[in-house]
Amino acid sequence: MIKSVSGTQDILAENSFKWRAIENRIHDLMRLYNYKEVRTPIFEYTELFTRSIGEQTDIVSKEMYTFEDSGDRSLTLRPENTASVARMTIENNILRANPQTKFYYIGPMFRRERPQKGRYRQFHQFGIEAIGPKSAELDVETIMIAIRFFESFALKNITLKINSIGSKDTRDRYKEALKDFVRPQLDLYCEDCNKRFATNPLRILDCKKDAEKNKNAPHIIDFLEDSAKIYFDRIKELLIYNEINFEIDHSLVRGLDYYTDIVYEISSSDLGSQSALCGGGRYDYLFEEIGGQHTAAVGFACGLERLLLILEEIKYNFLQNSIDLFIASFDDDSRKYVSKLADKFRLNNVSVETDFLKKKVGKQLEYANKIEAKYVLVIGETEIKTGKANLKRMSDGFLQEIDLISAILPIL
Ligand code: ATP
Ligand code: MG
Repeated sequence: MIKSVSGTQDILAENSFKWRAIENRIHDLMRLYNYKEVRTPIFEYTELFTRSIGEQTDIVSKEMYTFEDSGDRSLTLRPENTASVARMTIENNILRANPQTKFYYIGPMFRRERPQKGRYRQFHQFGIEAIGPKSAELDVETIMIAIRFFESFALKNITLKINSIGSKDTRDRYKEALKDFVRPQLDLYCEDCNKRFATNPLRILDCKKDAEKNKNAPHIIDFLEDSAKIYFDRIKELLIYNEINFEIDHSLVRGLDYYTDIVYEISSSDLGSQSALCGGGRYDYLFEEIGGQHTAAVGFACGLERLLLILEEIKYNFLQNSIDLFIASFDDDSRKYVSKLADKFRLNNVSVETDFLKKKVGKQLEYANKIEAKYVLVIGETEIKTGKANLKRMSDGFLQEIDLISAILPIL
């Protein structure tokens, strides 16, 4: 018996409608904000991710699914979608005609992490990328989209945390200050942080084990240049004006190299240890990193499995589309008639199921009940002869004679 790969999940038929409901919500929301859907390939040349995400990040150093194809090119299953969207934007010269470009995506991402609740090796993200303008209003628009998205499912207990990590220059100066702070007690820090100290010191702030020791670490916002400080103040002002609650989290730096200025994270206390629902920020250096021109851009990515975990927990009422009509039949003659009748109803936009197991009519009606058919017809010799049949409403047994020639389901 061949099993599925660890950290991957089948979306079973009894759950796929929930995914569809979430996806529909996303498409509806995106229309309101004029973001357009894009779909990039699932795999890209490895350099795209090493150059954009950064060699020293967890993703590139240990989580990527990288392989060589028979053309000896190193390829990688996308661990995230921002770099691909940036590549697509450059490659198709999109900004020239659209200096204010807004994209969104929904799709699977791949990271080789230790599988656990809320953490998988193939998982799905909904993300947006607003490319072109450097605008605090646009940054806040992206935050508001994420908040409105979660609010639309009536999620409570969500927290927005923001921080500013300024320019590359700011970060370089801050890294030195952070290292100065950590150095005297470095041997008390965990093994990972000891590695990060040399390779990616900002990541030390992310460490759960060493959070206590980091309490008195210097704050990156104290290292911001004046322009970045003004920009961050403007974002805070806009959030307050729009009545969006937030906290400033000095330890929020995000793992990826390409972020600049505003970074944010939305988490839920309903999720346990994998609490991050959405991570985002501005990434004005990414485009030049992968060979484009300097381009301002901001966006986020939300983990849909984690959203679904919460929705299951709060027993969110996903409306499932049940079948409109079940047509039962007796014998080969009526089965033949039903094959055409069912088709006529479907052409009239009625969803229809029939029996293919040649069950007795009683058993067919039990099945109709099980699949929650709203209406049932039983077709035998008389019905075929007269072209009329009694339509039964399953909720209360109400009967109404209908005409089988037109095959229209009356509104009862
Ligand atoms: P975490 O700190 O939980 O590892 P991250 O910072 O690596 O998250 P991002 O790269 O910002 O995550 O991705 C955005 C969102 O995608 C996360 O907030 C989370 O909801 C989701 N996500 C990330 N990795 C996984 C995973 N392995 N399985 C399920 N969802 C994930
Ligand atoms: Mg991660």
